[in-house]
Amino acid sequence: MKLLLATRNVKKLDELRRILAGSPELLKVELVGLDDVPPYVEVPETGLTFAENALLKAREGVKHTGLPTVADDSGLAVDALSGMPGVFSARWSGKHGDDRANLDLVLAQIGDVPDEHRGAAFVCAAALVLPGGGGTSPNGREHLVSGKMTGRLLRAPRGEGGFGYDPIFVADGNTRTNAELAPAEKDAISHRGKAFRALAAVIAKNLS
Ligand code: IMP
Repeated sequence: MKLLLATRNVKKLDELRRILAGSPELLKVELVGLDDVPPYVEVPETGLTFAENALLKAREGVKHTGLPTVADDSGLAVDALSGMPGVFSARWSGKHGDDRANLDLVLAQIGDVPDEHRGAAFVCAAALVLPGGGGTSPNGREHLVSGKMTGRLLRAPRGEGGFGYDPIFVADGNTRTNAELAPAEKDAISHRGKAFRALAAVIAKNLS
């Protein structure tokens, strides 16, 4: 049975594949990405919450491919910025995907915020939508989970790994930034890791 993860990000595909491989009942599920299905016009992420965006993308996947579809949306919520950049994390500086400019802008915006108020969290919502459902979920065809990693923001980037805001984020209980962690170390505590692991249980219940 095929399951679509509505992304072109190979790292996300690999991460979900690794997590699904840990569930014996999911060995029959073949995870495919957007590059493996006939192309369709992707909807802009217009939702105001991670959950809305994840559901939007998963519904689109089902609509265009007929496959059960998983989608996720994630970002950084900074306490001193009232939860922003949030759903705008990828384009906070105005240019989509310019990780360095986005990170520099956040650092500048909280430049005078004292250490004790530099809390932040990475948040991820992940949705599973099954074919045959309507717009909402009266019949249990739409499933939503989330994951969170809390921590604090440094004043300057550190580390070469990861992506996005990883070089300025230190997770609770850590002294290294996310960009200084090995990928498996980050997966074990990350917002996406938590959401994907929660979703694996939902997938197992609904697809096996
Ligand atoms: P997306 O959900 O993969 O589109 O991620 C949205 C944006 O949130 C990314 O472009 C990053 O700026 C930020 N982000 C999400 N997850 C992470 C992470 O694990 N580390 C660093 N930045 C992240």
